[in-house]
Amino acid sequence: MTDQSPTSVATASALDAYVRDPAIMAEVERLLSGRTRNIRLKGAVAEAFWDRTWRQASTIVRSWMVWVMMLDALTLMLNLILLPETSGAALLLPAAIVLSAAVAAFLVWRKRRSTRVLHGSLTVAMLFMLFGIGLMGVAAGGELYERFLNVMVFTAITGIIIFAVPMRHTVALAAIVLSLYLLLQLQNPLVEARSALSGFFFYFCGVSATVVARRTATILAQKSFLLELRDRRHVAELAEANHRLDELSKLDPLTGVANRRWMRELVGKLWLEASTVAVLMCDIDDFKALNDHRGHAEGDRCLREVADIIRHHLRSTRDCVARYGGEEFMILLCNVTDAEALTVAEQIRSSIAAAAFSSPGSRVAPFVTVSIGVAAGTTGSGEHTPEHLQRQADQALYAAKRAGRNRVMAFNPTTQPPPEALSRFAV
Ligand code: GH3
Ligand code: MG
Ligand code: MG
Repeated sequence: MTDQSPTSVATASALDAYVRDPAIMAEVERLLSGRTRNIRLKGAVAEAFWDRTWRQASTIVRSWMVWVMMLDALTLMLNLILLPETSGAALLLPAAIVLSAAVAAFLVWRKRRSTRVLHGSLTVAMLFMLFGIGLMGVAAGGELYERFLNVMVFTAITGIIIFAVPMRHTVALAAIVLSLYLLLQLQNPLVEARSALSGFFFYFCGVSATVVARRTATILAQKSFLLELRDRRHVAELAEANHRLDELSKLDPLTGVANRRWMRELVGKLWLEASTVAVLMCDIDDFKALNDHRGHAEGDRCLREVADIIRHHLRSTRDCVARYGGEEFMILLCNVTDAEALTVAEQIRSSIAAAAFSSPGSRVAPFVTVSIGVAAGTTGSGEHTPEHLQRQADQALYAAKRAGRNRVMAFNPTTQPPPEALSRFAV
C-alpha cells in the first residue's frame, strides 16, 4: 500500500541529479528538520517524489482496475444466472459503466502523463465506478440494494488505501462515496430515512479513518523518500571526497602533473601497452639561482609554467609526465622512435627557452632553460625495463649538464660515464 519500496522507479542517475541540486537538498533538510506530520512536498521535491513513485503507483492503479473488471464481470455473470431474468438484464448497463470506467482508468495510467490528468482521471473514473456499483444495487433491488451499496463503500475504501494520490483526491473520493451512499440509501424503499442516516454516519467514521490512514502512509512514504535523498547526498559527498583524495594522492599539488608514485603506476601500465618507449629526464638549469634571485614564489611559478609547456607537447592518452624531484620532470613517450623522442625533447627545450621566463642568476642564459636526457628502447624484447631506461635517461641528463646545460642529449653507452662517477650535475 505504500510507495516507498526500493523496487520503485526513478533510475539512480535521475535521483543523483536531484541530490546535486542545492535548492532541492535545502528543502529536503528543511522538511526533515520539522515535525513528520507537517511534511508536505512542494515544487521540485514533489516532482522528484513523483518521479520516484509514479511507475509503482501506475502498476497499483492498473492492477486494481483489472481486479475491478474481473469482479464486475463475475458479479454480472452470477447475477444473470441466479436472479430472475428481468433484474439480471437490468444490471447490464450499470455493470458496463463500471467496466468502461475501469478500462478508461487502466488505459490512462499506462503512460506517464501530467499528474493533473492522471489524478483527475482516476477520481472521475472512481466516481463512475462507484455510481455504477450503486446503480447495480438499485437495479437488483430488494436486499441486494443495500448489499451493493456496501460493496460500493468497500470498493471506495480499498481505493483510498491503495491509491497514492494527493490528499485532495483522496478526500474527493471519500466525499463522492459518502454522498452516493446517502443519496441512494435514502431512495432505498426497504430502508427508513433514519436507518439510512445512521448507516451514513457509520460509514462516515469508517471512511474518515481510512483517509487518515492514507494520509499517514503518504507522509511516511514521503519522509522515507526525503531520507533516501539525504542518504544519497551523503554517499555522493563521500564519493566526491574519495575522488579528491585519490587525485591528491596521484598529483603533484604545485604543478598538477603526476607525482612520482603515480608515475610508477602509469609507467608500468603503459609499458605493457606500448611496443617502444622513450624516457626523458628534464631538469631546470640553475634553478637554485632563480630561487635566490627572484624568490621561492617565482620559483614555484616557473615550475608550473615548465610543467604546462611539457604537458602541451605530449599526447594525452599515450604519454605522461611527472614531477620527479624538486625541479626535475620525468616524461614517458609511448610508441616513438629514437628520432621522434629526440624531436619532442628538443621541442620542449626550445619552447621553455622561448617562454623567456627571467632567471637573472643563471650561468646559462638570462632566462629559464632546461637540460634533457633521452633514452629509448623496446618493451617486449626483455632487453629493457622501465628502471633501466630511466637510469640511462638520467645518465644522458648528467651528460647534458656537463656539456653546458640548455640542451638535449641521447643516451650513448660508449661515451657516458656511470652515474655514480659523477657528483650530481656538477660541472
Ligand atoms: P642544475 O643546473 O645543476 O640542475 O642546478 P640547480 O640549481 O637547478 O640544482 P640544485 O639541485 O642545486 O637546486 C635545485 C633547487 O630547486 C634547490 C631547491 O631550493 C629548489 N626547489 C626544489 N623544490 C622546489 C619547489 O617546490 N619550489 C621552489 N621554488 N624551488 C624548489
Ligand atoms: Mg636543476
Ligand atoms: Mg635537479
